[in-house]
Formats: sequence, C-alpha cells, structure tokens
Amino acid sequence: MHIGAADLAELIALCRSEIDRNCAHLSDLDSAIGDGDHGANMRRGLEAVFAEREAIAALALPDALERIGTILVMNIGGAAGPLYGTLAMELGRAMSERGGAPDFAASLERAIAAVARRGRSGPGDKTLLDVLYPVQVEVLRRSAPARVAECAQSAAQSTQAMQARRGRAAYLGARSIGHEDPGASSCALLTATICRYLREHDAP
Ligand SMILES: [Mg+2]
Repeated sequence: MHIGAADLAELIALCRSEIDRNCAHLSDLDSAIGDGDHGANMRRGLEAVFAEREAIAALALPDALERIGTILVMNIGGAAGPLYGTLAMELGRAMSERGGAPDFAASLERAIAAVARRGRSGPGDKTLLDVLYPVQVEVLRRSAPARVAECAQSAAQSTQAMQARRGRAAYLGARSIGHEDPGASSCALLTATICRYLREHDAP
C-alpha cells in the first residue's frame, strides 16, 4: 500500500461520504454499548477535514496528516477523537522524520503504538486497535489493498465476541459481548474506503 500516490482532496471527500452514509449505523452500534454519539462525532470530524481539504491537499503528505490529526482531535470529541487524532498526527510525524523516502509500514507501526499508549489499550480490549493491529500486519506484509480492506472488516466484526475493557462500554462488563465496537467499525469503514481508492487508482 502506498498512500503517497493518493489525491488527498478526493480521498478526504470519499471518507467523508462513507462516514456520512454510515452515521446512523455507527450511532446505533454506540447506543448498544455506549452513549450513541459515535456516528455524529465522526461525521463532525470528517466534515471539518472536508471543509479544509484543498488546503490540506496542498501540503506535503506528512504535514497534511498532522493537520488532519489536529482537526480530528478538535472535532470528533468523545473517546475516538484523541485516538484518531493521534493516529494521523503520529503517522505524519513518523513519515516526516523519515525524510524523502517515508516507509509507510514502519510509520504506521509507530503511529499505532502511539494510539495504544494514548488509549492505554491493547489487543482484545474491543477498541479501534482491534482493527489497526491486523491492518498493520497486512501492511507490513505488503498485502494488496483489497486484502487489507477485507482484513479490516473481518477484524471489526470480530470485536463482537470481545468484552470491552476500555471506555464507557467497559462498565457493561460481559453485557458488552455480542455488539460490534463502534470505533472498530468506523476504523474499518475508513480503512476500506482508503483501500478501495488505492485499488481503483492502481496504487501498488
Ligand atoms: Mg460515544
């Protein structure tokens, strides 16, 4: 996967419509184990990035990612805002430190580790990390975008069987089992959208 080949303004528009289309579904998932605002929160975040998409697309990719992260932190709110914000910001930072030849897989690994520290979460806690870790494995293997997308979607579904250990859902204990995690679900939707874009644009 080589995200550097993407037209960022177009990709942002696609992510925004995907979240918009799934807003009610994400909030329904959050209603089952949280406070029901994940769809609206994600939509607010993506709308804010969309509003700045032309300025963002004019930046070098690492700077663009840092800017996206800042906007997401300020606009998503809830538990997901800092996690998505950290992911984008740290990905940008890691890529810029690598200078001219950013290694996307290594940068992603560092960014995901930062998300885990920020959320004080690990694998199996029923969070968006349960999508990010399997995605990281596929990216390190240099899997094709279609494979990465499939992996993200099945990883989100597999959070159904998990008991939440972080966030509001953790208060439900065993009653959180049987519901897909809303953060994992939005993360899979965004991953699949990015992968579909890369596949359609023949990115390696
Ligand atoms: Mg919520």
